[in-house]
This record gives sequence, structure tokens and C-alpha cells, in this order.
Amino acid sequence: MAGHIPLGNKPTTTSLHPSFHSPKAIVQAITSPIKGSKHRWLAETAAEVRSLHLWLEAFARELASAQAHQTPLSSRLLVECLALVSDLFFFGALANARIHWEAGFPRNVNGCTEPEGDEIRINVTNAYDGNISPERYAVKLLVFIAHEALHAFWVQYACRGHDACWEEWGASGHGMAWQRMAFEVERALEYAGVEGVSLVRAAAAREERDAFRDEGVVWSPSREDVLRYFGGRCPVSGRVYTRDWRDKLKALFKW
Ligand SMILES: [Zn+2]
Ligand SMILES: [Zn+2]
Repeated sequence: MAGHIPLGNKPTTTSLHPSFHSPKAIVQAITSPIKGSKHRWLAETAAEVRSLHLWLEAFARELASAQAHQTPLSSRLLVECLALVSDLFFFGALANARIHWEAGFPRNVNGCTEPEGDEIRINVTNAYDGNISPERYAVKLLVFIAHEALHAFWVQYACRGHDACWEEWGASGHGMAWQRMAFEVERALEYAGVEGVSLVRAAAAREERDAFRDEGVVWSPSREDVLRYFGGRCPVSGRVYTRDWRDKLKALFKW
């Protein structure tokens, strides 16, 4: 099904209804402002980018003053961060998402997102063990929230009613549509001067492979996607592609 989000314009809530939207169309709407031009994107989001840096400072200050790890951190800062991410990347359309601190996630899990009635519930871990600086942890939390916000956006707005839509969405919610959006969000955060961002896309791709395997489907990104979104190394198979096979052969045979 074709999408109806006019590119470059903020979609209305009605035009965002899932029955209109293939994951492909959503990816295009979300990523086209970022892909357009770095300078234009920065000019259009200047106020939010400034607020993002103020948020990072405020959160790091709060962490620095916390007595020990697992201190319950301010919920106000969490809500502010989600609102900023929503304004920066999702046309402010994440109004139905609620965000909470959650204790007791396994060590390697940073967050999860699930529908809860009419709302989307995002949980992020509040475990700060002091092993990295408050400033680094503030960036980490920002990217956890951006990662989960992508899921929340999908849950609310993306079509899963057709085979092609479902495939783009993915078996674990980390299909290629998610990857393409996550890639551009990472890039935009870099434009905004937030260093060292990772929306853990490689691990998400492996989660996707495992979830598809449970459905009896072999999933692997295409060679083009591996080159574009994973820098040439497939996170699923470990296979390394180069932009030009001739270059690889040249190097191999010292042509
Ligand atoms: Zn995820
Ligand atoms: Zn569809």
C-alpha cells in the first residue's frame, strides 16, 4: 500500500493513520529532512538541538550528584528527553508514548517498548553503575530513548497488514525499515554534535535474524543494505563486502 505522507511537510495525525502507511513510506517521511542537507536540518531544528544539549548537561549533573548506582533518577528529565526526540525526529507525533524508569532489566537490555491500552509504554533501565562518566551515560540514555522511540513510532503508525509491510517491519521490529530510520537518526545526532552515538543497529540485526529463524525464515540484509547501513560488514553473516569487488580482487592479487 502506498504511503501518503507528503514529503517535507509535517503529517497530520489523520494522515499518519497506520492504514495509510507502509513502513517504506514512513521511512521516507522521517528520513528525507535529514538526508536533504545537514545545514538545512540543523537550521530547522536549531531550538531543539540547543535544548538537547541543555538536557544532556542537566542529566549529567543529576547523575554526578547521585549518591550511588541505581539511584532513582528524575522522571521529569526522562519525559523531557522523549519529548525532544519526538520533536526532532517524529513531527512531535509520539504524544501517546509514556516513558518510565525500570529496575531489574538483564544487564545487556537497556529498554523495551510495548502497547499498553491506548498508549505505548517505553521502559528504560535506571541502572547507572558509575563505570562511565555522567556525560557519557547521558549520551547513552539519549540513544536508548531514541532507539525505543523508533519502536514506539512504528507501533503507532506503521502498517503490518501486508506481507511486504510485515517483512519491512521485521519479526522483532528491527527490520530494514527500522534500520534505515535508525541509521539516519544516528547521523542526525552526529550533526547535532552528540558524539559517539550508537542505536545498537548491529545487535538489532542479529535479533532480527533470530526472530525470523523462529518463524522459519532465513533473514539477511541485502548486499546494498550491508554496504550502506553496516559499513560493508554484514552483522548477520559476518561477511565483508566492499564497494567494489574489483578493488578487493586487485588487493588480493596485487594487480
Ligand atoms: Zn529495539
Ligand atoms: Zn501495508
